[in-house]
Amino acid sequence: MTRLTRRLSTTLSLENQLAILAGEVSEIVPVDALHYRHQIGGTDFVFSSGMGGPHSCEYRLTLEGESYGTLSFKRRKKFTEQELEAIELMLGAAICPIRNACQFLAIEHAALTDSLTGIPNKRAMESALQQACQLSDRHGDQYSLILCDLDHFKAVNDRYGHVVGDHLLKLAARALEKAVRSSDSVYRFGGEEFAILLPHTGEMEARHVAERIREYIGTISVNCGNTNVSVTTSCGVAMHLTGEASDQWLARADEALYRAKDHGRNCTRVFASIS
Ligand code: GH3
Ligand code: MG
Ligand code: MG
Repeated sequence: MTRLTRRLSTTLSLENQLAILAGEVSEIVPVDALHYRHQIGGTDFVFSSGMGGPHSCEYRLTLEGESYGTLSFKRRKKFTEQELEAIELMLGAAICPIRNACQFLAIEHAALTDSLTGIPNKRAMESALQQACQLSDRHGDQYSLILCDLDHFKAVNDRYGHVVGDHLLKLAARALEKAVRSSDSVYRFGGEEFAILLPHTGEMEARHVAERIREYIGTISVNCGNTNVSVTTSCGVAMHLTGEASDQWLARADEALYRAKDHGRNCTRVFASIS
């Protein structure tokens, strides 16, 4: 038991803790599988080890009235009373470290999420861009970036108020998520600016996606008394160039966005990789 608590205290990773718990439990009670599930920061965290069996025991982990997930053990043979007692004793020792790991994951998730729209924020985008640069350089895969900036958004706020502006930003985030593939990622990059990272996508294909994004954003409408408020967006596209750092890539997408604004807004411009 002391070994279990000592090992659990060495990590804040929920995944590592559950692997340690699975290992330590099976030293005392032979089990064929451990399954764990918990909603953290609006997403499902699932951990499984082993294959399972017809007999199971399931525990809802709670501490001071808060839930920290559901844990079940499975195996072919029925569990005896003594075995269940031993498992429960070990869970009693594991609950505090598991609570800490859940809270750590929730904080980590919050640090990477935009609180207004619920989508990943600029910080999340920066680390995804750096990773994409490395993958693109190593494997020669094409990665494209789209920057979208809502047009004349200050005027929307000034005319209809911040509450309407905020509502439009939430709808814009949903529209962007609908307009892209599940392998693409949408980020809130700044106030009324969004970024979309598209793996395995060249600049011409990314331009099509940007045009679809403009179309989806154009369908947003918020009813304000006797008028419907709508917005348009300008998009800048740049494909990652071999050896290019993430800030240079971002600067080229921003330059393309600037050209779209300069051209009169509600349009897309690509920073072409070959001139
Ligand atoms: P442009 O077409 O050149 O992009 O014009 P713009 O008015 O959209 O650009 P500008 O940079 O002048 O203003 C951006 C505005 O976005 C200013 C601010 O009122 C609004 N904005 C930024 N963040 C938020 C937010 O979280 N909520 C709301 N409601 N408005 C925001
Ligand atoms: Mg802007
Ligand atoms: Mg704008």
